[in-house]
This record gives sequence, C-alpha cells and structure tokens, in this order.
Amino acid sequence: MIQDIAPHHYDNVYHPVPPKAGDFIFFYREDQTLLSAATGLPFTWEEVTALAPADELEFTYYFRIDDKDFHQCHTIPPTIQAQAKEVSMGHFRSMDPQWMAFAGITAYQLYTWYRSHQYCGRCGHPAQHDRVERAMRCPVCGNLVYPTISPAVIVGVTHGDRLLLTRYSRPGTTRNYALIAGFAEIGEPLEDTVRREVMEEVGLPVKNIRFYKSQPWSFSSSLLSGFYCDLDTEDETVTLQEDELGEGTWFDRECLPQGGSDISLTREMIERFRQGLV
Ligand SMILES: [Zn+2]
Repeated sequence: MIQDIAPHHYDNVYHPVPPKAGDFIFFYREDQTLLSAATGLPFTWEEVTALAPADELEFTYYFRIDDKDFHQCHTIPPTIQAQAKEVSMGHFRSMDPQWMAFAGITAYQLYTWYRSHQYCGRCGHPAQHDRVERAMRCPVCGNLVYPTISPAVIVGVTHGDRLLLTRYSRPGTTRNYALIAGFAEIGEPLEDTVRREVMEEVGLPVKNIRFYKSQPWSFSSSLLSGFYCDLDTEDETVTLQEDELGEGTWFDRECLPQGGSDISLTREMIERFRQGLV
C-alpha cells in the first residue's frame, strides 16, 4: 500500500527546522505540484539554491523521511518555474519510487490544509504556525486548529465464499470495482459507520464486524479503516443507493475481478479474500 515504504522511515514528529543539504522542497501553484523537470522528483535543496537566492525564500517544514526533511517553499521564483514540470495530485498514484510518491501525496495533503487555514475560522484574524505542534494558532482569540483528517471505513461484506463489490455511478469517480466505503459521521463509532454505510449503499444487514487494517489516504485527507463483516441474512438481494452506486455484485472467491492499483487498502482487502485468508 502507498504508506508501506520500508526500509524508508516516515517521521511525522513536528520539528520545524530550516532546509539543509539533501532535503527536498515542494513548490505548489494552485492544485498543481512543481517537480524538477530534470529528475521528475521534488526539487532538492541543492537545485533550489543553485537557481534562487535561498535567503529571500520562505519555507514551511513538513516531515522527515530517513534523514531527509521535506519542506514547502511559499513562492515560486521564475528560475524554478523554468526548470519545473507541473503535475496534479493523481500523478503520485503511480510515481516511482513509491516512497517519494508517498511523500508527494502526504505533502499535498499538508499543503491543502495549510492553504485552507491561513485565517482563524472563529474570528477571521490571520493565523500563525504554532511553535510546538503542527497546528495553526490564532494570535487574537487563541483558536488552535490541527490538520484535518477525516475518518472513513472500507467494508468487505462476505457471505461464505462470496464477497460484495460495488461500482460508483457518479461522473468523475473510478469505474473499477471497489468495496463499500464512507465517512464516519460526528458522534458515530466506526462499527456503526460500517453498519450504516452497508445499509445505505446496498440495503443489507451485517454482523461479526472485525477490523483488518488502516491506511492514511491523503488523496481525500482521510484515514481509512478496513473492516470485514458477514452478511446477517440468507437473502443476498442488493438494494442499491442509486445516486451513488451503479452496481453491487456478489462475486465467488475464484471469480473476483483482477487488477487495480496495489497502493490501496481496497485492493489488498479484495486480494486477501481471493487468497482465502478471510
Ligand atoms: Zn481567532
């Protein structure tokens, strides 16, 4: 999965330090990330300092992988722009090496969060970076806001040797088969999210809800929790939530569709069922 970057180590402890040799620098323009045209990777500190006077640039510390720190630069010097290629968030789904893809999408989530929290949501005053934590603090009213992470569930509904797969119907969503998924609501334990989402999307009751594994999914600023559960009826009849889903189909274990991206928890959960491990 996308977060499985061993032997590399992701260190998300907030220790805001200035860039140093060997570090990587992200530049952003609206929803686009600027990568080095020469390498296809984020600009290195050496590339940046060769192209622009670093003492005129402002940086925000993001995170560390191994001994390399990753930062965002707040402005784009023309000399950087001239040596850059712009990519969208989706580029990081298949970027090589994978540990850099993970860095890219994680940095993008931080970028979009910082970008949307430049002002206090309570009083409207410009917010400041907290000195101790990865958070934005309002110097006027004291409002402290942490990065937004939305909890969501992915649900493998099983009935003996059969697994329920779905496909979205909305324009712009993937046409690949997937598992039932949805965001947790305020006040709701994840087990209830599982029951509610399955009932809403396919109209079926479930039991024996068991946690499998979690995955940070920065593409939607969410934290996914994967669960398997069993159908709590002998009637497999699916009643689709048609404004969301175009298809809900039971597949025998040996007939599950192949393919899809191996960066996702969804794919791993389907494969695990195919292999008879669930
Ligand atoms: Zn405020």
